[in-house]
Amino acid sequence: MSLYYDLHIHTCLSPCADDDMTPPNLVNMAVLAGLEVIAVTDHNSTRNAGAVMEAARGTPLVVVPGMEVSTAEEIHVICLFPGLEAAREAGREIESLLPPVPNRPNIFGSQLVMDAGERVLEEAPTLLLNAAALSIDRMPDWAASYGGICYPAHIDRPSGGILAVLGGLPEVPVFRRLEVARPREFFADPAHAPLRESHEIIVSSDAHRLRDIADARRRLEPADWPELSPLFAGR
Ligand SMILES: [Zn+2]
Ligand SMILES: [Zn+2]
Repeated sequence: MSLYYDLHIHTCLSPCADDDMTPPNLVNMAVLAGLEVIAVTDHNSTRNAGAVMEAARGTPLVVVPGMEVSTAEEIHVICLFPGLEAAREAGREIESLLPPVPNRPNIFGSQLVMDAGERVLEEAPTLLLNAAALSIDRMPDWAASYGGICYPAHIDRPSGGILAVLGGLPEVPVFRRLEVARPREFFADPAHAPLRESHEIIVSSDAHRLRDIADARRRLEPADWPELSPLFAGR
């Protein structure tokens, strides 16, 4: 059974996201929108993934713990994990690979770590917007070492998009999936059309504000995401 998805959503942990992107708000908004699967993908950290998963308990929503990694080349990559423990460890490793620059909330925005009841537990100390010391060619193996998967985010954007940064898709590593922010405009270019044959195209919201969470329009087939099967058990 295919499920309506939005696999790229930021929480109040991302400095650039609204502070009202709290775990319960995010879950309520996603359920209202008719979504069935969402992924929590904060910048370079997974500290709020568990709270969103907990906030979704008792709802029909599947929450995938994930992260949007900024590689050393400043390419944004969506990483998704099969469970919370793996996601937590992966997030800790990425945070350790960030430059030790403290966040300045008044300039970059706050990095709120919350529980499922919107209590602020802490503020992530290191600025999460910098690039991690991990290169794009290592990303698939790195994600796989945590049982997860990864694919380039918003490949059609100038900032953080793999096409703009590298001038095209690299020969290696091979990514099976690509996230496209604006598919209609992107695929209007005949040069991009073949990518639809060679890759699975993912379209998610990259929401930083509640109102930007996707409508129930795009579906995924859980059978096509075997790496995440523990999360889809019973669906
Ligand atoms: Zn991004
Ligand atoms: Zn994002």
